[in-house]
Amino acid sequence: MSRAFNFCAGPATLPEPVLKQAQEEMLDWRGTGMSVMEMSHRSDEFVAIAETAEKDLRELAGISDDYAVLFMQGGASSQFSTIPLNLLGEKASADYINTGIWSKKAIAEAKRYGTVNVAASSEDSGFVTIPDQSAWRTSADAAYLHYTPNETIGGLEFDFVPDSGDVPLVADMSSTMLSRPVDVSRFGLIYAGAQKNIGPSGLVVVIIRKDLLGKARKETPTMMNYQVIADNASMYNTPATYSWYLAGLVFKWLKEQGGVEAMGEINYRKAKKLYDFIDDNDFYANPIEPRFRSWMNVPFTLADDALNGEFLKGADARGLLNLKGHRSVGGMRASIYNAMPEAGVDALIQYMSEFARERG
Ligand code: PMP
Repeated sequence: MSRAFNFCAGPATLPEPVLKQAQEEMLDWRGTGMSVMEMSHRSDEFVAIAETAEKDLRELAGISDDYAVLFMQGGASSQFSTIPLNLLGEKASADYINTGIWSKKAIAEAKRYGTVNVAASSEDSGFVTIPDQSAWRTSADAAYLHYTPNETIGGLEFDFVPDSGDVPLVADMSSTMLSRPVDVSRFGLIYAGAQKNIGPSGLVVVIIRKDLLGKARKETPTMMNYQVIADNASMYNTPATYSWYLAGLVFKWLKEQGGVEAMGEINYRKAKKLYDFIDDNDFYANPIEPRFRSWMNVPFTLADDALNGEFLKGADARGLLNLKGHRSVGGMRASIYNAMPEAGVDALIQYMSEFARERG
C-alpha cells in the first residue's frame, strides 16, 4: 500500500507515524483489552489520555495557567455563536475584521446576539489583502475583537497579531494553529477546529483566558457555556474521545519534530517554494498580496480554466489528491499543513512544472 499526498483543506492529511500508532493500539490499548473508542470517558485510562494531551498542547503552544484549555464539539462553526453568547456580557457590541468567507460566517452568526461592528474589511479588494491596522475603526467599548488569522479558502494570512488594547482579542486559528509560534498571552480566546493541524474532525480546541469565563448569557445552552465546560474538564457530557486521543498522538509527534518553532521553519520553506514556483511560471497565478500569503493554504489558477479538469485528473493519477479549489472560488488549492511532508510539495511542483510545459 502506498499513501498519496493529500492536499485536502480538512479533514486533512495526518502524520503517518500517528496513524500507524493508532493502528497498533486499535484493538487493545496498552493491555486494557479494548480500543480507546470503547473506553469510558470517566475511566482512569481515558482521563490520563485526555490530561496528557492537554499538557502536551500547553507545552507546545506555550499556554500558561491563566488560560483554560477546552476540548469541545460542534466544530469551529459552533464557536461562531458560542463566542458572542459567552463574551458579549453586558456590552452592546463586538468588533469583527472581515477578511474572507470564514470571517463573514463568524460575523453573520454574531449578529444574532448583538451588534457587530465590522471594524475593517478587505472585501473591496476581493480579499487579496489585509487592511492596515491604522485604518481599523475599532471601538474601545467592544466586548471583544474577532479576526481570522488564516482564511482557509482565500489563502490569506495575517503576518501580525492585531493590537486590541484592553479589548480581548479572539482568533479563529482553525487552519493556522500550531503551524508557527504564536504568543498566546496576546489573546483572550483562541479556537481551532481540529481537522487540519490537530487531528480528526469532531473536536474543537478552545483556549480561553480564565477571567473571561463565567460571563455567559443566561439563555446560553449548557453545552455552549465555557464555564460549565471548564468546570467539568471538558467532560460535562461524553466528549469526542477518539478525536481527543488522536490529537494527543499528533501533539506527541509535533514535540518529536521540534515543536512549533521547527514546524514554522519547515512550513515557511514549503510555502515559499510553492509560491516562488507559481510566481516564476507564467502558467500559474496566485492573487494574494505576497506579504499576506497563507503558509497553510495555497490557492492558484491555471492560465486557462478549461484545463482544470485535465490538471486534476493528471494529479490524481500521480497520487496528488484533493487539489480542487473551494467551490466558491474555483481554481486549485494546495493545503500544506504540518503533516504534509516537504516531499509532497516537491512532487506537486514537479507535476505543475511538467503540466505547464506540456499544456502551456
Ligand atoms: N474557520 C475556518 C478558518 C475554517 O477553515 C473552517 C473549516 N474549513 C471553519 C471555521 C469551520 O470549521 P468546522 O467545519 O469545524 O465547523
